[in-house]
Amino acid sequence: MIEPKNPSEIAREALTRLAANRLPPTPANYQACYNEIAGLPNVVPFPELPLHQLAALLVGKNAVQHAELAKFDAAIARHSWLGVQESLLAFIGASSPPAAMVNASLSEPALPLEFLSKLARLIESVLPALGDENGRMLEMAGDLLLLLRQPSVDITMLQDRLANFSRQVLFAAEEQVEIKVSLLNLLHLIIENIGELSLDDSWLKGQIDGLLAAVVPPLSLRHLDEIERRLRDVMVKQSEAKNRSVEAQEELRLMLAAFIEHLAIMSQSSTTFQGKIEESAREIEQIKRVEDLAPLLKNVLAATQAMARETSGAHAQLENLRSRVSATEAELVQLHLELDSASALARHDPLTDTLNRKGLDEALAREIAGVRRKDSLLSVCLLDIDNFKLLNDRLGHDVGDNALIHLADVARGCMRPSDTLARYGGEEFVILMPDTALEQGVEAMVRLQRELTKAFFLSGKEKVLITFSAGVAQLAADESGADAIKRADQAMYLAKRAGKNRVFSG
Ligand code: GH3
Ligand code: MG
Ligand code: MG
Repeated sequence: MIEPKNPSEIAREALTRLAANRLPPTPANYQACYNEIAGLPNVVPFPELPLHQLAALLVGKNAVQHAELAKFDAAIARHSWLGVQESLLAFIGASSPPAAMVNASLSEPALPLEFLSKLARLIESVLPALGDENGRMLEMAGDLLLLLRQPSVDITMLQDRLANFSRQVLFAAEEQVEIKVSLLNLLHLIIENIGELSLDDSWLKGQIDGLLAAVVPPLSLRHLDEIERRLRDVMVKQSEAKNRSVEAQEELRLMLAAFIEHLAIMSQSSTTFQGKIEESAREIEQIKRVEDLAPLLKNVLAATQAMARETSGAHAQLENLRSRVSATEAELVQLHLELDSASALARHDPLTDTLNRKGLDEALAREIAGVRRKDSLLSVCLLDIDNFKLLNDRLGHDVGDNALIHLADVARGCMRPSDTLARYGGEEFVILMPDTALEQGVEAMVRLQRELTKAFFLSGKEKVLITFSAGVAQLAADESGADAIKRADQAMYLAKRAGKNRVFSG
């Protein structure tokens, strides 16, 4: 049996082993050698005291760090290395600054990279809208963008450049407003001139007046699009009319030339005739014998016959010309009639200045394409004025017309700018409401009903309450616009049947 060594022997031997194994003389190495020689398990003691000292040195700067320090203390108390390690790492993690601040100067508050890149994008996107004749703005924007995209931004410099740039933007925006006003004035002048140039001002008047009223601020893209289409209509009709009128005038000019030519031939042949007759008269005076008269008479007869032939030929030709002139005149009349109906061919109803059927068809096709593209909703409303025939009978057709204008005005007043109002028939209107579900569509029509009771129609001094019955349908997937209107029409019919002045959904 081996005698256990006493501690001082073990200690000495441990020192000798440390030296022999060339181990650094640290307390941990010494302890390990000692334990090995003494036959004790080599348990490294938990460094509680140094860890407590470390904990005392750590200062939490935020709530996370405070919480991690508490966990750190608790882990020391539990002698849990894992706990100590986790809480220390979390403590350090909670103190690391955001990426954008790493390079920022310590004395200035740093701006997040996300914000700077958004600012850069904003500057890039406003540039095209501002116009830049001398390139100054482009230069400033270039400098700014360069600054914004640097890894660390000098905030004072950024502020200066931004202030300069915003001043320039302000000037440019004011200039754009002035340009817009001048362009509008120009457009006004052009439209007025088109009106003046028209052959017959009655046919164009409706369209021109509508256009002049439409060219007023505030302008939206939708509004401008509408104006453009109407102007195009007017110009196409006018140029057609002009071409045909020029053709007709040319025809008349040619006929006039032919007239003059014939007149010249006639007067020429009658001068010849006159000459021959005068000559014959002189010869007759000198004739002494009757037999000498015969050849003379023959000459006179021949001249007279030639004259008669010439005259009847000219007569036939003149007759022919005359019928062609009246045909051309008839064509001009027809042309004017067609021009009169040109307003009807255009897309607007001249009475109420709403879209007509053609305009509605186009608007409906456009809205439906938009709905399919954006996967959004479209509600369609059909309204029919109640007892309109009675109103006409009682107050006259003109008052009826004004009531239609009034209804269109009130409807326009309470519709959204994206909605479309069209006259569907006599006293029936269709309203297209994009991005509107059925219930909201019905609500919009009830709102219009309420509006009409407030903004009543005046006939002289009499307040006339206009009511309508309406049907609303929400366009179904794969449904055509015409079918949706048909459903709205059926709902409107049911609203009439139920006692009028109500809105039904289809
Ligand atoms: P309901 O309530 O059932 O709709 O009855 P209503 O009288 O409104 O309907 P009806 O269809 O019987 O009559 C419509 C009338 O609208 C007949 C027509 O003379 C009149 N109308 C149609 N277009 C115009 C127009 O442009 N101006 C005027 N003043 N009246 C019009
Ligand atoms: Mg009707
Ligand atoms: Mg009616």
